[in-house]
Amino acid sequence: MSERSRPPANEGPARETLMAQALHYIDEQTGAVTPAWQPATTFARRDDAGFYGDFRYSRSGNPVSVHLEEMLARLEGGAAARVFSSGLSAFVCLMETLPHGAHVVAQRIMYHGALDWLMRLRDKRGLKLTLFDQSDPAGLTGAIAPGATDLVWIETPCNPTWDITDIAAAAEAAHAAGAKLAVDATCASPVLSRPFDLGADLIFHSATKYLNGHSDVTAGALIAASEDDQWHELCTLRNYMGSVLPPFESWLAIRGLRTVFLRVGRASQSALAIARHLDGHPALEAVLYPGLPGHPGHEVAKRQMPGGFGGMLSITVKGGRQAAADVCAALRVFVRATSLGGVESLAEHRILVEGANSIVPDNLIRLSVGIEDVNDLIADLDQALQKL
Ligand SMILES: *Cc1c(COP(=O)(O)O)cnc(C)c1O
Repeated sequence: MSERSRPPANEGPARETLMAQALHYIDEQTGAVTPAWQPATTFARRDDAGFYGDFRYSRSGNPVSVHLEEMLARLEGGAAARVFSSGLSAFVCLMETLPHGAHVVAQRIMYHGALDWLMRLRDKRGLKLTLFDQSDPAGLTGAIAPGATDLVWIETPCNPTWDITDIAAAAEAAHAAGAKLAVDATCASPVLSRPFDLGADLIFHSATKYLNGHSDVTAGALIAASEDDQWHELCTLRNYMGSVLPPFESWLAIRGLRTVFLRVGRASQSALAIARHLDGHPALEAVLYPGLPGHPGHEVAKRQMPGGFGGMLSITVKGGRQAAADVCAALRVFVRATSLGGVESLAEHRILVEGANSIVPDNLIRLSVGIEDVNDLIADLDQALQKL
């Protein structure tokens, strides 16, 4: 099904080329090599009442957001993409397409905001929700109900433990039960994993993270393997909810996306170097990173993330919550802030942001590795851990 709708692979320039050139953009009127920022909220009709192009009113899309969507569809190899004013607004909109009483299967550890929203839908709106243990390879199959499950939502690597869910196995299990598979691929980014090649039906990104990559745009994206009824409803709902990404944010995101391969490649290499350096450190209980051979998801990650294991890792510190707080306070190069996927490295004592439902250990520090000199980052972590 999805194969028919998606453009054939290996046709035309490589994804790196397409992104660097914003799809070989050349403005027809001026020859400009970057897409123009177009802030209009309304678009004129001609004398015959027809429109000049595809645009009428900016709640349903603007020329800049549509160009970004074309880039994302090409980047993921999907049939279509839509961008939203945040990752969570994309998630909320997708959940809104599900009928009353729908059954959703999701990971016990996943992005906390999306999990909180699912629980809210369960408690207030009749959603049936089954959570599975993402660290158990058999966990998902037990949670799916053949003929009853509508959507399987996975996040891999997942926030903030970086457990790996096998995308191909999840797609097979979801499809066998008549459900769709949606993958939150925010942390892998399109550079390191290709969920459509492994059978996913929908790909989600918080574009706030690696896609934009500069910590200056809040945005979300959904990409579909095929434009089916649910997809059309999603587009309609985005219009009702008014959650399209505005022109300026779309413009910045295009600019950020042009360097996504360079940024993610560098972050991923540096994160691996940091994880190897810290592995076995006497001040640490554990280093959580799928690129380490001891990580339970390492073999699956090698298969489904052939380009690298990503720029995200976590450390659990000996001495509990206070020790983790002390390490965060001692960092001088890492910036202490939430979020991830930007060019600057960030460290976060995760317990401070996760809600009451969280089962994340209170001595866990999440690191988002940026593109700085990796020796500066390693030296910073070393000096902070030495103070324990
Ligand atoms: C940040 C994030 C989200 C939510 O996206 P926003 O852009 O912050 O709304 C969802 N999933 C993952 C994995 C994230 O890191």
